[in-house]
Amino acid sequence: APRVLSGIQPTADSFHLGNYLGALRQWVSLQDTHETFYCVVDLHAITVEHDPELLRRRTRVSAAQLIAMGVDPGRATLFVQSHVPEHAELAWVLGCLTGFGEASRMTQFKDKSSKQGTSATSVGLFTYPVLQAADILLYTPEPGTAVLRVPVGEDQRQHLELTRTLAQRFNHRFGETFVAPEAHIPEGAAKITDLQEPDAKMSKSASSPQGIIDVLEEPGPMRKKIMRAVTDTGSEVVYDEEKKAGVTNLLRIYSALDGTPVPDLEAKYAGSGYGQFKKDLAEVVLGTFTPIRERTAALLDDPAELDRILEKGAERAGAVAARTMETVRERVGFVGRG
Ligand code: ATP
Ligand code: MG
Repeated sequence: APRVLSGIQPTADSFHLGNYLGALRQWVSLQDTHETFYCVVDLHAITVEHDPELLRRRTRVSAAQLIAMGVDPGRATLFVQSHVPEHAELAWVLGCLTGFGEASRMTQFKDKSSKQGTSATSVGLFTYPVLQAADILLYTPEPGTAVLRVPVGEDQRQHLELTRTLAQRFNHRFGETFVAPEAHIPEGAAKITDLQEPDAKMSKSASSPQGIIDVLEEPGPMRKKIMRAVTDTGSEVVYDEEKKAGVTNLLRIYSALDGTPVPDLEAKYAGSGYGQFKKDLAEVVLGTFTPIRERTAALLDDPAELDRILEKGAERAGAVAARTMETVRERVGFVGRG
């Protein structure tokens, strides 16, 4: 089966609805058709200032949420990035193949560093895309035999392009080693916007608490937030991205979670106003997230078992990564350790 590699940063106490509909739900369905590697990228999470205890907790909470959502550690290789030291090792090698100017053109770095100022910006944030390239290329299939697909949102396209460039450059200099990965735009992935600012994307770092639907949110606050979501002038529940961005976002969420096509929802709520629509939407969201919240809590109740699952994942990922690194060391010209 073709391989898939994807990662998510443990940078919040909960994933949100945008992460779920835009990425994580596809992680689950890709398990049926692909050999999947899913990784909680804690090395990436320290490229900005962080709190050590918070990072440790969020890494476990992230892994627990992924399992609770349906990532099956029996089928998928689920692991923590720092457990496989080859990620950092390959990043060093690839960093030596990356031009300074080339790295300077990465727009995510420009955005994040301009918000922080140069003295607060770390070299790690600058080389973030190189580490991401290493994350991906470590799981390269045998050249010529298969493809490596990487589910990415629009924001990560430039980094994937750099990964392809580095794979080709390495191959050109040192011999055919890496298969250039392909972007995988998941079917049915929806872009979800902020509940309070329907023109901006729902985001862990940029959205206000009122704008985000967290997967682990309690039912009471969840219902309130959805009832208070910004809607538009008029009272009809109709899909119109330009004139009714708020209602349109809610319709998209409802349809994506419940499977009812948008026109059927418009017909169902014709004449009943926003209130009933939002009430029902809250129940649909809770129907999806309540079991995930409960399973996450149960998994976190037994951290030793969770750590064992992650250890097994790291063993499987580590075996693949070690093989790739062995080839890389040999090709680059390092003396073998005997
Ligand atoms: P941050 O604000 O820290 O960048 P984020 O909310 O963008 O956090 P990420 O961890 O960067 O979340 O993204 C994880 C995955 O979720 C990525 O594949 C990304 O494309 C997807 N994603 C993030 N936000 C949304 C959204 N609003 N709608 C759909 N997909 C999203
Ligand atoms: Mg993001």
